[in-house]
Amino acid sequence: DVLIMEGGADVLIVGAGPSGLMLANWLARCNVSFRIIDKKPNQTLSGHADGLQCRTLEVIESFGFIDQILKIANPLVEVCLWGPSPDGHIQRNYRLANTAKGVSYIEKIFSEELKRVSGVSVERSIEPISLQIDRETIHDPHSKPIHVQLMHRRADGSIYNEDIQVKYLIGCDGAHSWVRRTLGIPMIGESSESVWGVVDTMCVSDFPDIRCCCTVQSSASGTLKIIPREKGIVRFYVQLRQYSPVADTMDRSSVTSSEIIEAARNILKPYSLVVHREMIGQTVYRVGQRLAPRFSSFNNRVLLSGDACHSHSPKVGQGMNVSMMDAYNLGWKIAQTLNGTITSSVLDTYEYERRKIAEDLLDLDRKIAPLISQKISPEDAVESTRNLRKVFKSGKVFMSGVGVIYGPSMLTIDHSDALHLARHVHPGRRIDSHQVLCQADARPWNVHELMPSDGRWRIVILAGDVREVEQMEKINRLGSLFNGENGLVTNVTPRECRLDSVVQVLTIHRSPRKEVELVHFPSTLCPPFDYEKIFVDDESYLKGHGQAYEGFGVHLHGESIT
Ligand code: FAD
Repeated sequence: DVLIMEGGADVLIVGAGPSGLMLANWLARCNVSFRIIDKKPNQTLSGHADGLQCRTLEVIESFGFIDQILKIANPLVEVCLWGPSPDGHIQRNYRLANTAKGVSYIEKIFSEELKRVSGVSVERSIEPISLQIDRETIHDPHSKPIHVQLMHRRADGSIYNEDIQVKYLIGCDGAHSWVRRTLGIPMIGESSESVWGVVDTMCVSDFPDIRCCCTVQSSASGTLKIIPREKGIVRFYVQLRQYSPVADTMDRSSVTSSEIIEAARNILKPYSLVVHREMIGQTVYRVGQRLAPRFSSFNNRVLLSGDACHSHSPKVGQGMNVSMMDAYNLGWKIAQTLNGTITSSVLDTYEYERRKIAEDLLDLDRKIAPLISQKISPEDAVESTRNLRKVFKSGKVFMSGVGVIYGPSMLTIDHSDALHLARHVHPGRRIDSHQVLCQADARPWNVHELMPSDGRWRIVILAGDVREVEQMEKINRLGSLFNGENGLVTNVTPRECRLDSVVQVLTIHRSPRKEVELVHFPSTLCPPFDYEKIFVDDESYLKGHGQAYEGFGVHLHGESIT
């Protein structure tokens, strides 16, 4: 049977892994009509990615459901590096602070949140089987030039097909992406030579760092990574063997969890490891770094996100994070293109920005993966730990996700032009979060809390010391420039909508809060009944001083800023 749908969604997301679900959650918050399909009949509950980095957590917080994540997350506070000891066993060589949180059930939480916010569920047991693009209408923003045939698999095994038309098709369908292959985009790069097994366990061990994030390199038996997870679960990534042509063709399911656990036990010797329960079946994979030469096609009507356009080893714990952040980068751009707030050329910035991140990640992975996989002798142990430590340290900010800086584009001005105004606010980088107080009621807020991911643009005025008449006059003029009649913000806001529904203007001043009254601010910046527009960088009653101006690198010249 073929079912033909009229109307329907503007966007089709293929794949409900971390990347597809992040995109769906974003589009839902921007009121975009979309469908999300997955060929698997059931959700992945655990087994793949398990580390959420700082920036990913910030984004989830900006969606408003961080509490569900933190409730079940296991913070990984410390990283330990172990290497061979002179007596042929292993010894702890180094400890350093970590930034990631371990958590499973990510896909479950994202799916539930999607349903709550938009009523949309992942449609399962569905996969695309053909794709046609109408090239004639591809430049018409109102057209739906993407024709996709979907195959539905019923529970009884029977199938039926459905033809749909959409404006955008997003391939979030993982490393073997159908969308990418159908576009004829190859993956370029190489697979490396080691084969790794993963197993989650409830175990008892006298290894002292069993609840720390560890890399253990033994001289005789290979390398092990330990990731302590929620509820006492311990995940082991174990190097099973060096790659050989036989390994390349090996049936991965032939590797048993006992083999993986035995390999872990050998590496940990002389410490003991008793496994009481395995939480998931084992998975086996080969490490490799591969990148698609293009992330999009057909005038950005078909785009790729996540593992569909880059793949790398899980050694740096980035697969899920980078995949989700691809989708976070893409989601608002599609939404704003669809609602006409910005021209579709903004979609060019997606590949421009995210390709660089994928390349940096692959570079880091290329450095770390062999250091972790290599066999080391006790004599080389010190040197090897030093190298690993150096690479971990240099990649730490990048791995946390907060250090990402996008280059100049239609969205981002050249950094050097703005540096003297706010030394720590880098165009193209996420703004650091500092505490400020609400002028109206003294409640402390972190700057990020003022900017939830709801599809709005934000302008933040750092107003300086507004006790000065001259400074307040400047603020008045800015208020009119943005929100006055014929103001820049007023002109891009539909008449029937709230003035802050497209662009929200927030003001953070630096006068002592008690020496300034809310009523002194112009109504353009502080409209009636809206008490959460004017903030101050001042001492709070209970939580100290946020020092936001220092954090942003903004200097007051004398008593005011220029
Ligand atoms: P995926 O998670 O692969 O999701 C793709 C989705 O698309 C799947 O649900 C799939 O069913 C669906 N799909 C595929 N083809 C189709 C189709 N034709 N039609 C419809 N649906 C389709 N990363 C880390 O950060 N840390 C880790 O510890 C870690 N461990 C890993 C362990 C293993 C064994 C593996 C295999 C991966 C691991 N990763 C890890 C990598 C991480 O899981 C991925 O980088 C991440 O899941 C990528 O997200 P994604 O949404 O792009 O793709």
